[in-house]
Amino acid sequence: MSHADVIVVGAGPVGALAALRLARTGVRVLMIEARAQDAPVRDARALALSWASRALLADVGAFPDSVPASVIDTVHVSQQGRMGRTKISHRDLGLPHLGVVVDYPALNKALVDVLAKAGVMVKWGSRVCLVNSLARYAAVTLENGEMLSARLVVLADGGALAAGLPGIRRHVHDYAQSALLAQVDFEEAPAGVAFERFADAGPLALLPHAGGTMLVWTRTSEDALRLQAEAPEQLAAELQQALGERLGRVTAVGERTVFPLALRQLNRVVSGRVVMIGNAAQTMHPVAAQGLNLGLRDAAQLAEILSDAADPGDAQLLAAYAKSRKRDSHSVVGFTHGLIRLFDGSAALTGAVRGAGMTLLDAVPPLRRRFAGYLVFGV
Ligand SMILES: Cc1cc2nc3c(=O)[nH]c(=O)nc-3n(C[C@H](O)[C@H](O)[C@H](O)COP(=O)(O)OP(=O)(O)OC[C@H]3O[C@@H](n4cnc5c(N)ncnc54)[C@H](O)[C@@H]3O)c2cc1C
Repeated sequence: MSHADVIVVGAGPVGALAALRLARTGVRVLMIEARAQDAPVRDARALALSWASRALLADVGAFPDSVPASVIDTVHVSQQGRMGRTKISHRDLGLPHLGVVVDYPALNKALVDVLAKAGVMVKWGSRVCLVNSLARYAAVTLENGEMLSARLVVLADGGALAAGLPGIRRHVHDYAQSALLAQVDFEEAPAGVAFERFADAGPLALLPHAGGTMLVWTRTSEDALRLQAEAPEQLAAELQQALGERLGRVTAVGERTVFPLALRQLNRVVSGRVVMIGNAAQTMHPVAAQGLNLGLRDAAQLAEILSDAADPGDAQLLAAYAKSRKRDSHSVVGFTHGLIRLFDGSAALTGAVRGAGMTLLDAVPPLRRRFAGYLVFGV
């Protein structure tokens, strides 16, 4: 059985950032990733990353100019058929930009390249099927029967492996909704502006992307599948109705992808010598584009707390990590879940009250700055 200081399961963006930051502090890290090294990452997600997340990635060299990214300078929030809107600007926070939009595969490739340069060992094409925590070490078992051990196992696998661990329960809320993603181009989409619109059919985001916009539209799962199957003109027509004339006519609709949506949150993120980070700890609705931003903060904070640790699986250190992440995680998950409830038709609040809230945010700069700071930096 081979041994490392820390095993990180999952070389997605969160696991990769954790491994890089841990390796930098001299920890012997072994990553285990189910995907084969040369297998293409097929993922249509365009991710809105805050300026703070970009800084975390740039700090490990994983945000070179070679990563194609579109900047976000303004976020424009509105609701269909109601007065009231708010605009959050990078100027509210004195930052060069609020954030960037980057394709999941491009970000993944940048991180994988940096892992190779940093000499972090990655066991590609290896799926972990079992995790055990013992008194002095934790062990993972691969599908081929091989066992590996470490003082600490970090699960950044997106969520499946935590379920079997002692003391871990997972709260799941199925939204019965899906996100429909498509590149959509408009006649007059302004550069650098992300739109968040609470449309009658479901909240939609338009992120600056590849010279046009990436649509992320939350619909009932039935609707999302219908819009995926129907002619692109149907999506264009429904989108036009939800947005009005603000961006001009839709000129092109690209390939459409559907992601079913659920909230999954663990009651605790540490079980013995195993810690869960990123989507493995919490998977949330993409309405506020916060999932990866939160996960990157998990990764950075874990590496920070473990730097100089004699034993990275030390119970007190892991408890300190869990405590330090609780407020950020709970408030971002709560905020995201609350947004969905606030804007769904069954909420007791009327559209007028929601509109008044947005107008207030727009009219009171200190409030807006606080809100913007929360979106960019977390809690
Ligand atoms: C439609 C949509 C839009 C989104 N938009 C945004 C956005 O704009 N901004 C934002 O911040 N977030 C967004 N998110 C959330 C974001 O995608 C996730 O938070 C992020 O991908 C989580 O990263 P991760 O590294 O934790 O997990 P993942 O990206 O899921 O990576 C997990 C890795 O673990 C590997 N793995 C899985 N199981 C095993 C195993 N048993 N053994 C070994 N390896 C394994 C996988 O192959 C993968 O490489 C969005 C999500 C969706 C669905």
